Amino acid sequence: MTVKKLLIRNAEVTDAPAGVPHYIYIEDNKIVFVKKTLPENFDFADVEVLEGGGKLATPGLVNTHGHVAMTLLRSYADDLDLMDWLQNKIWPVEAKMKPQDIYWGSMLGIYEMLRGGTTCFADMYAEMDEVAQAAAKLGIRANLSRGLIGAAPNAQEALAENKQLFKDWHNYDRGQIRVTLGPHAPYTCPDDFLRQVVDASFELGAEVQMHLCETKGEIEDSLRDFGMTPIARMEKIGLLERGVIAAHCVHLTEEDMDIMAARQMRVALNPQSNLKLASGIAPVPALLKEGICVGIGTDGASSNNNLDMLEEVRLTAMLHKATTYDPLALPAAAVWKMATEDGAKVLGFKNLGRLEAGAYADIVLWKMSGPHWYPRHNKLSLLVYAASSQDAETVLVNGKVVLKDGHLTAYDEEKICAETAACAKALLER
Ligand SMILES: [Zn+2]
Repeated sequence: MTVKKLLIRNAEVTDAPAGVPHYIYIEDNKIVFVKKTLPENFDFADVEVLEGGGKLATPGLVNTHGHVAMTLLRSYADDLDLMDWLQNKIWPVEAKMKPQDIYWGSMLGIYEMLRGGTTCFADMYAEMDEVAQAAAKLGIRANLSRGLIGAAPNAQEALAENKQLFKDWHNYDRGQIRVTLGPHAPYTCPDDFLRQVVDASFELGAEVQMHLCETKGEIEDSLRDFGMTPIARMEKIGLLERGVIAAHCVHLTEEDMDIMAARQMRVALNPQSNLKLASGIAPVPALLKEGICVGIGTDGASSNNNLDMLEEVRLTAMLHKATTYDPLALPAAAVWKMATEDGAKVLGFKNLGRLEAGAYADIVLWKMSGPHWYPRHNKLSLLVYAASSQDAETVLVNGKVVLKDGHLTAYDEEKICAETAACAKALLER
């Protein structure tokens, strides 16, 4: 088999001064080099060339937490608190969703992610085979889990589906798709059920993703019902022994953070969702101080774009009481690392999230045009503070061009929008 070779030329990179073009050479799915000049003996035979002039090349963004098919419910129920939103609006509609609804909601959300420079995402939902099919179709990298409500009548069925998802999709396409187990949250899963999840994680060698410590109410209920915090309870049950992606982690004690550090838990921070649902502000600087790996997620049904919330990540960290309003609590470079390299680590992808030799070629070319791209003192600052997700122009995942000149390469975008709108309409009429 001939190896696919691709050269991006004249693109700028974040760690060089403005106006200095670079060559990024990719073989198969990995970056071979990032250089200012081409090696003298470079052989152009069979090399596809992508013009990067006027564009900024960066690693793709990683969305560490979400429920992408919920894109189908975007703008359906807003301005409510978490429990009201879930119990009275979201869960009743979700109960009526059919597999094709999940598929088209996922197609739309994945299209939106790729269009906005997100090359990798995590998901927890039902009918996950549909989500996996959509991810494979559009070529995005993913970490997928079946959401498990342990207290629900179909809990055993859902756990069996999650195990099957692992068998069918884990390490699909040379690791482009990973599968984890998805116990929804401490407050929806009894101890007995969580022990079954622990058994399954050992049996399969699967990691876990879970909502943890999202609201104050969750902590208060846990203290009342179990006499300990949700993190302490998960530790006691044994759920933290095999690699856990913990979404939210807004309300934590010092002891919780010690457990999290000792268990090398990774955190998927969702500042936009936490602000929207008035859940609170996560203690990001304290987590980073403990050496806990933190990535950024979108969650919920507003937007699937990480880039547009980077400034919120920084500002909310600054506002958290633990920071004493320190403007240096979370510099732009730290936020960018959370959105890329650390996000990849959170989701268990190695060698990802850096624009350097040996890393997997998940790359975004951002079109640096428009007033918000000037002046160019610091390109990383521009990305975090000024750039829009809509500036993503060309996107590669695992060395493959999945978005070119702002358009999907694998599927008709208008069909995705039309099919999703039709599904959403039929769903609410059902
Ligand atoms: Zn969530």
